[in-house]
Amino acid sequence: MFDNLSDKLDKAFHILKGHGKITEINVAETLKEVRRALLDADVNFKIAKDFTTRVKDKAIGENVLTTLQPGQLMVKLVKDELTELMGGDVAGINLSGNPTVILMSGLQGSGKTTFSGKLANYLKTKKNKKPLLIAGDVYRPAAIDQLHVVGGQIGVEVYSERENKNPVEIALNGIKHAKANGFNVVVVDTAGRLAVDEEMMTEIANVHKAINPQETLFVVDSMTGQDAVNTAKAFNDRLNFDGVILTKLDGDTRGGAALSIKSVVNKPIKFVGTGEKMEAIDVFYPSRMADRILGMGDVVSLVERAQEQFDEEEARKLQKKIAKNEFGFDDFLQQIQQVKKMGNMKDLIGMIPGASKAMKDVEIEDDAFKHIEAIIQSMTPKERKKPSIIDVKRKNRIAKGSGTKIEQVNQLMKQFDQMSKMMKMMQGPGGKQLMKMMGG
Ligand code: GDP
Repeated sequence: MFDNLSDKLDKAFHILKGHGKITEINVAETLKEVRRALLDADVNFKIAKDFTTRVKDKAIGENVLTTLQPGQLMVKLVKDELTELMGGDVAGINLSGNPTVILMSGLQGSGKTTFSGKLANYLKTKKNKKPLLIAGDVYRPAAIDQLHVVGGQIGVEVYSERENKNPVEIALNGIKHAKANGFNVVVVDTAGRLAVDEEMMTEIANVHKAINPQETLFVVDSMTGQDAVNTAKAFNDRLNFDGVILTKLDGDTRGGAALSIKSVVNKPIKFVGTGEKMEAIDVFYPSRMADRILGMGDVVSLVERAQEQFDEEEARKLQKKIAKNEFGFDDFLQQIQQVKKMGNMKDLIGMIPGASKAMKDVEIEDDAFKHIEAIIQSMTPKERKKPSIIDVKRKNRIAKGSGTKIEQVNQLMKQFDQMSKMMKMMQGPGGKQLMKMMGG
């Protein structure tokens, strides 16, 4: 995420860090580099210029040159300014009204339908709501099918009327259906076009007027950079929407959209999409994003994700198993699956301070656990429970079954063995001491 921008900003600060004595010229040079980095990230010229002007004013105001660590102070000033640029505080979602009505808008392909599903899933699992999805795209039957598929995946009902070509009627009927059946949130997916056109705008404006939503969200593909900002402006002029959803942030986006949208439309980014799966949705925190852009990681989000995935009951069960020497490959597999639910590896690494930079040239597979999972899945239940019975003959069979090499099986067995020993040690009387040694 924003790798290029992070890199360039890092280089900009090198100028300051590399000099023994920091002068006004160094600071000016750094700011010039910062501006260049922003422009390369596809941030609009005026926004980039205003940005550096503000940082410069603050630097003068705070007498940067006379402080003990001017380099660090400059990084902080840039971080604060980046946070402001992306909206400052986190923007919540308005869930008042019964049902709460949420209208989705955006171009075709922006990720609107996918995000409607993600949002419904988020509201159901994180906010304890009973959402209903409404299929408002009357032009593409495939769009209705897609929403039904998404609804099926997350166990959320989808309201659609295949014969009706009037999106206003469908939306109103859907809301009626929600009221009659105890749904407390409706998410209305609408038709998009490939580009902004008058007919589409009139249509969504009509739906907007008729259903009077608590939240109108504009979905945009972050990979489209300045185009994203222009589209946002066009939609906002017509709908005066409440918030922006940036999708595809997991892709190779330069970051321009995330950095520019707030200052152009003056509406906050509320959520981001970070993958095709239904769980790939994050609340947007401007300051955490600024930390990530500056390579400072995002430990808070990492811990939150870990907490979401690991429940205490499971942890207790696992501890018992370890104590009884019963930790097997099935448990290992389960652990891996939990880690995977936290997000893809690249994303997780980006949250660890400094790790993104350190791992920059390492090729990370999207599915880093693929081989390990395949190997474990090729084991019989007995082998998984009692790995000690796995001899060379069995190893060969497992390698063949999983499409891996025997060396890989050996390696996994060795790692598993080491891990089991380690876990046993943590449990035993020396464990507390060990934890202390490790700073726990
Ligand atoms: P719509 O036409 O606006 O409804 O867009 P869709 O929801 O059909 O999404 C278009 C494509 O983008 C689909 O292939 C989605 O799987 C993909 N997509 C949507 N959101 C994301 C995301 O956050 N990350 C990635 N990588 N792909 C996404």
